[in-house]
Amino acid sequence: MNPDCIFCKIVKGEIPCAKVYENQKYVAFLDITPVNPGHTLVIPKEHYEDLLNTPDSVLDGMLNDSKKIAKAVLKAVGAEGFNLTVNVGPVSGQVVPHLHIHIMPRFPNDGHHLFKGGAYKEGEIQKVAEKIRQNL
Ligand code: AMP
Ligand code: ZN
Repeated sequence: MNPDCIFCKIVKGEIPCAKVYENQKYVAFLDITPVNPGHTLVIPKEHYEDLLNTPDSVLDGMLNDSKKIAKAVLKAVGAEGFNLTVNVGPVSGQVVPHLHIHIMPRFPNDGHHLFKGGAYKEGEIQKVAEKIRQNL
């Protein structure tokens, strides 16, 4: 637990949230600035800054539970699909440094757009792939 962390305070019940799910490891609640109604955050009860700092044992089951919650979100708000997002680091837009998975229900013509794809220069894609393989 981090006493200065807003999500730790939610876990401890020190600040209110619209909770939709809880088990031994995780809590899920509605995002207060939703992309669309039903936008849900799934967090581990333990404090870890981001995905890369979270032990595998804590992550184990988080995606399965997110899937279960996402199904309920879709039914509840009548959405046909959703985006599942984990921001890592301020450069990605991570504002709250306590790991969270966003479940964002989507509707046709809701005005939201995914990142615009770019292009690789000649031969660049193979070089980037090779560098990634070397770092695994
Ligand atoms: P991120 O940009 O990935 O760090 O997302 C953090 C999210 O937490 C934002 O979408 C905020 O709207 C949401 N958020 C911040 N404080 C609260 C809160 N007290 N209750 C619910 N959601 C929150
Ligand atoms: Zn925390």
